[in-house]
Amino acid sequence: MIDLNCDVSVAAGYKSASQQARVISEAWYLKNAYCLACDSDEVKATKRNTPANDFVCPKCGHRYELKAFKRRPRKALNDGAYKTMMEGISAFRAPTLCLMERTVDWQIRSWSAIHSGFLVPNVIVKRKALSDSAQRKGYVGCTIRLDQIAPDAEISVIDKCVIVKVEDVRRRFQRFNGLGTEPIEQRGWTLLTLWIVRRLRKASFTLAEVYQHEAEFAKVYPANLHIRDKIRQQLQVLRDLGVLVFEERGTYRLLS
Ligand SMILES: [Zn+2]
Repeated sequence: MIDLNCDVSVAAGYKSASQQARVISEAWYLKNAYCLACDSDEVKATKRNTPANDFVCPKCGHRYELKAFKRRPRKALNDGAYKTMMEGISAFRAPTLCLMERTVDWQIRSWSAIHSGFLVPNVIVKRKALSDSAQRKGYVGCTIRLDQIAPDAEISVIDKCVIVKVEDVRRRFQRFNGLGTEPIEQRGWTLLTLWIVRRLRKASFTLAEVYQHEAEFAKVYPANLHIRDKIRQQLQVLRDLGVLVFEERGTYRLLS
């Protein structure tokens, strides 16, 4: 059972507020988190005995990266090295991002997971290399464009201090497990289609409405000359994932 209260005593040996916050949230996560991708009730830190924001499920190997905030970003999220992220994506081992928010008195207010399957190259932005004067000169980090990821990616585990039922969380999360094994380019198309479909803000939509966004697809995939065929194919992939259903000819309905 998840306990929303954090144990602040674990940070006793740390001086800076940011280090304390990290250690407290990591200890909380290790004690309370469960795997969303399978039925494992625990996750492990990847590096034993050291505070680390990387966790892995001992049963299915799904990886998680913890990001704790007082107030989480909505638009963009700065992450680690660009190269590591891109290599992780190509090797199908990008982590699911766990975004957590806490109250001033150290209760977990929210925890939502961004499914790793949604991390594709077109939502990862390379940052400028750190300048000569910086401690880590030449380091190139990355930014994850949360505002370019379909809202389906984000699965709420704790919402405003209310714990969502584990079965519901897992059902919503595992629906997208298959995405993680799709070749990157194929997955990029699927997710761009989903993002555009969600932005229509309609429960039912027509093929013609998606075609109106053809230029956006062309911008991301300039070499592809058959964008409309690709869009129709991706709508089938989304149907197979259980995101939408086909109604009468040329009309689609989103399921949730
Ligand atoms: Zn698992």
